[in-house]
Amino acid sequence: HLLLARVSSVMAKNLLALSFPGGQVLAVVGGALQHAAASPLDLPAVGDMVLAQWEADDKAVVVEVLPRRSILQRRSVGRQTVPQLIAANIDTVFVVTSFAGDFNLRRLERYVLAVLASHIQCVILVNKCDLVDDPVDMLSDFSAVLGRVPIHPTSAVSREGLDGIECHVNPGDTICFIGSSGVGKSSLLNALAGEELMETAPLRRELTKGRHTTTMRQMLYLPSGLTVIDTPGMREFAPWITDESCVDMAFEDIALAATRCRYDDCSHTVEPDCAVVQGVEDGEIYEERVEAYRELIEEIRELNQQR
Ligand code: GDP
Ligand code: ZN
Repeated sequence: HLLLARVSSVMAKNLLALSFPGGQVLAVVGGALQHAAASPLDLPAVGDMVLAQWEADDKAVVVEVLPRRSILQRRSVGRQTVPQLIAANIDTVFVVTSFAGDFNLRRLERYVLAVLASHIQCVILVNKCDLVDDPVDMLSDFSAVLGRVPIHPTSAVSREGLDGIECHVNPGDTICFIGSSGVGKSSLLNALAGEELMETAPLRRELTKGRHTTTMRQMLYLPSGLTVIDTPGMREFAPWITDESCVDMAFEDIALAATRCRYDDCSHTVEPDCAVVQGVEDGEIYEERVEAYRELIEEIRELNQQR
């Protein structure tokens, strides 16, 4: 009979853990599904809802990936023109940075963009706010630069601002934390979980016997009812963005000014009556942000030409 389950871990190309109410089992991807997959994006990823068939020996075989409500993609290492699936069905991504001097606006913009381009809600957390005197004041500078993406100071140490995380989510949602290593993603996760960091039910013993399975912890349940996806691949990644219009979402201030440029295809460099250049001169738009905007558009066009 068929089992409706969620992929809680991808351990090897063809070895998954499936989680369902009451348990977790190992599964392989069925031959027909592998065959029908036109690209790696069609194969199950962490967070996917799947149908699996029980076979002899309690082995499950995934026969179908159910429609996804979102996917988060990265550039594959070595094959720049092919996207790789990081996770499926995420509701909110928390892009994490910190007050400990590693705030890189350019990198942050890229992460935010990748999330918005995937039509996933994005919230920025600036962690380690216990290290500075007036985090809210420091943040007002950042928020001017970052447009309308919500941004919260947090501390995994003092627990300040942790409620800022919960006001963006509903019980039952799936979330994840992305950002450079060392900003405090694991610490935030542990702070949210308290003592009760719950792994999905342990894998049934007999199924793992004889196999080389260090069960990687890739999906967790928080006491508040949230599911957290945490895979090694999502911690730092090169975003995959092919849609120019999503740049406008992350650079709303520039996009808004651009509607007043004389030319629709204005590159905001040398054209007469460019409202973006004017905005920079008037001190309303940060010049380095316009550069970042141009660079990103350029990058996306290049990527699209290579494809
Ligand atoms: P990750 O690589 O993003 O998962 O970062 P970790 O959670 O491993 O944290 C990296 C370092 O930062 C550790 O030494 C933590 O103790 C420290 N850290 C994490 N969160 C905070 C915080 O809110 N305040 C301070 N002062 N240190 C923190
Ligand atoms: Zn212009």
